Amino acid sequence: MSLVMTANTNVAKIIQQSKRPIERIRNIGIIAHIDAGKTTTTERILFFTGRIHKIGEVHDGATVTDYMPEERERGITITSAATWAEWRGAQINIIDTPGHVDFTAEVERSLRVLDGGIGVICAVAGVQPQSETVWRQADRYKVPRIAFVNKMDRTGADFDAAVKSMRSQLNCNAIPLQIPVGAGNEFIGIVDVIEKKYAYYTDVETSRPGLQTARCKLNWEDKLPEGYEEKLADARKMLIEALAERDEDLMNRYLEGAEIPTEEIKKHLRKAVIERAIFPVMCGASLKDKGIQLLLDAVVDYLPSPVDLPDLEGTHPKTEQPVVRKADPSAPFSGMAFKTIVDDQGALTFMRIYSGKLSQGDAILNARKNQTERVGRIYQMHADKKEQIDSAEAGAICAIVGAKTLVTGDTICDPNHPITYSAMNFAKPVISIAIAPKSTNDRDRLATALAKIALQDPTFQRKTDEETDETVISGMGELHLEIILSLLKREHKVEVDSSKPQVAYRQSIGAPIDVEGRHVKQSGGHGQYGIINVKFEPDPKAEQLEFVDEIVGGVIPREYIPSVEKGLRKIVEEGTAPLWVPFVNLRATLHYGKYHAVDSSDLAFQQAAREAFREMCLKTKLVLLEPRMKFEVTCPDDYTGDVVGDLGSRRAEIASIDQVGNLKAIRGIVPISEMFQYSTKLRSMTSGRGNYVMEPFDYGQVPNAVAEKVYEEARKRELARKK
Ligand code: GDP
Repeated sequence: MSLVMTANTNVAKIIQQSKRPIERIRNIGIIAHIDAGKTTTTERILFFTGRIHKIGEVHDGATVTDYMPEERERGITITSAATWAEWRGAQINIIDTPGHVDFTAEVERSLRVLDGGIGVICAVAGVQPQSETVWRQADRYKVPRIAFVNKMDRTGADFDAAVKSMRSQLNCNAIPLQIPVGAGNEFIGIVDVIEKKYAYYTDVETSRPGLQTARCKLNWEDKLPEGYEEKLADARKMLIEALAERDEDLMNRYLEGAEIPTEEIKKHLRKAVIERAIFPVMCGASLKDKGIQLLLDAVVDYLPSPVDLPDLEGTHPKTEQPVVRKADPSAPFSGMAFKTIVDDQGALTFMRIYSGKLSQGDAILNARKNQTERVGRIYQMHADKKEQIDSAEAGAICAIVGAKTLVTGDTICDPNHPITYSAMNFAKPVISIAIAPKSTNDRDRLATALAKIALQDPTFQRKTDEETDETVISGMGELHLEIILSLLKREHKVEVDSSKPQVAYRQSIGAPIDVEGRHVKQSGGHGQYGIINVKFEPDPKAEQLEFVDEIVGGVIPREYIPSVEKGLRKIVEEGTAPLWVPFVNLRATLHYGKYHAVDSSDLAFQQAAREAFREMCLKTKLVLLEPRMKFEVTCPDDYTGDVVGDLGSRRAEIASIDQVGNLKAIRGIVPISEMFQYSTKLRSMTSGRGNYVMEPFDYGQVPNAVAEKVYEEARKRELARKK
C-alpha cells in the first residue's frame, strides 16, 4: 500500500503500515570514503525504487539525504540521514554514513544499527587508503558488505584493479559477481556471472534537472559480447571455488564437473556473504544510472535480514547477567537510540528496534538511566520528511518525538524485560575554540543553541566560563568546529566571534607528592574548618581520578570524605590556572586530616580538597599531554620527500611508507597541534595531488620546550582576560 508523504507538518496522517515480514527487511548503510559516490548512489537507489521522482545531483545541492545546508554547500554528507525504499517486496532501510573522519562518531553510530552495507569504491582510484578507515570500522562491527565499484564511466576506470586492491589492501575475499563491458565512455553493459547473461544499457532521451526517467534502459540478452565467454568462465570458476571451499558436497560435485544450478549458487553465496567469508563485487556508474537495479537485486539476495544475524546479546541492567533477545516481533521490546535531531517541533530520536513491537503510548525503559518514557508519535523517516506510523516492529528503523532522557547509544526496552546493549564508543574531542556572543541578543540564544547541538552530536562539548562569559566549544577536528560555527549562524541565528583553534591539552603529574590542604576561617560568625592530607600519584590506569580513602580512627568524620572526593573531582575536571584543562591519570589517597566539631562542613572539606590540589600543582612539575592523531597522507611518489620532511618538522613519527596503487601512503602519529591548516599546506606542496586523513589516537607527553611555550601563552591569555 502507498504511504502518504508529509513534509514536516503537524497534520501528518497516521498510516497503517503494511507489515512486511522481518525476513524482507534490509537495514543497510552505504559505506565509503568521501567522494566515492555514496550520495549519488543513494539518490539513484531512491529513484529506481520509486521513492523519489526526480534525481537531484550532488553538485546542484539538491539531493535528498544530504539535507543540512552545510552538507549541500560542501557537497559532503555529515549527518546520517535515514531513509527507506522498496525493492522486489523487500523494505530497504538506508542509513547514510559519512566518510569524513572528522565525523567518525556518525559512522560508528550508524554501523552499530546496520545489518549490512554497500561499500562504494571509485573505479579510477581503487581502494584509496582513506577508504580503508571506513572499511575497517565496518569490519569492527562485523557488517556484511557488497562492494560497488562506481564511476565505471570515468576515463581510467579499471574494475580488475579495484578488485585486486580490495583483496590486497582491505585483505578481504573480494569475488566479482559482474564483469563490466567496456570502461570510461565505452562502459555499456555488465555480464552477470551468476545468471550468465548480458545486461546492456540503451540511452533514453531525457533532460536534467527535474529528470523524470533514467538516462538509460536496462536490457537483457543471453548472448555475451565477443570475447566475454572466457572472462565469464574464469569469473564463475573463482566464485564457485570460493563457495565450494566452504561446502564439501559442493566441492565434490564441482570437482566431478557437475553444473551447479543458479539457485544453489545464490543460496551458498547468501550464506557466505552473511558470514563475511565473501565480499561480492559489483560495478556501475551511479551518475549515469548504470548498475543500480542489479545492485538492489544483490542487496535483497545477499545482504542479511535482521533474523539472519546471531541473537542479540545484552546484559540485565540490575543483575548484570547476560540476556539474549531474538529479532522477533513477538519477543519483548528492545531497541537502541542512534541519533537525535532537534527541530522546531522538539527532539526526534532515531532508533533501531531489535526485538518486539513499539506502539504509540507504550511505556519504555531507558535502561542506562533507569527512567521510563511514554512513547509519543512514531515516524518512519525519509531524509527530513517524517511519515507517521502507528507502530513499528523488530527490524525497523524509526523515530519518536519528545523523548526526554534518550541520548545516542541508550538502550530502550520493555520495562518488564530490561536489557542493556553495549553502548557506542565515541572518541573524546581533541580541539577547541573560544567563542563569544556578538550581542546581548546573541548571548541569550547561545546557550540554548549549543545545548541543542550537543544533544545531537555526542562528540561535541561545550563549557562556559561564567566570569568571562567566554564559551569554549570542542570537537573532533577543524572541519567539525567550522560546521558547528556555521550551524550556529545559519540554523540558530547566533552570531559569535571565535578564537583560533586550541588543542584539548590534558595535564598530569610526573612523580608522587604528599600535600596538605587547609581551609580554615574562624574569625567572626560561623567558621569554616577542614584540613586534609592527600598523596597524589601518577596512575596511567585511572582515566581521570582514582580516589582512595585511607582515613582511620575517625580523624575526619565519614560524612566529610565524599566532600573531599567531590572537591577533588571538580577541580580535576576544571583544571587550574593558567591552562584550565582537565587532569588525567591521577590517584589521590586521602590519609590524614583534622576537623572541628562546630566549624567543619561539607563545603569546608570541598574547599580543603581544592586547596590541596592547588598546593600539589605549585609543588610538583606538571606533565603536559596533547592529543595525537593517527594519519595517512597519500601523494604521488615525486612529492614523498617533501611531504615526509614537512611531517618531520611537525613532530610526526612516521611508521610506514608504502606503495598503494600509483601513490605513496605515509602513515604515522602526529600531535594535532602541529596539523592546523595542514590541508592547505599539503595542497600547495603537492600541486593539489596529496590527500590526508587523521583520527584521534592517544595522548602523548609534550616535549619540555613546546610545553613551556604553551604555558607562556596561556599565562599571557590569562593576563589579557583579567585586564
Ligand atoms: P560522496 O561524497 O561519496 O557522497 O560522493 P558524491 O555522491 O557526492 O559524489 C562525488 C562526486 O563524484 C560528485 O561530483 C558526483 O557527481 C561524482 N560521481 C558520483 N558517481 C559518479 C559516477 O558514477 N560517475 C562519475 N563520472 N562521477 C560520479
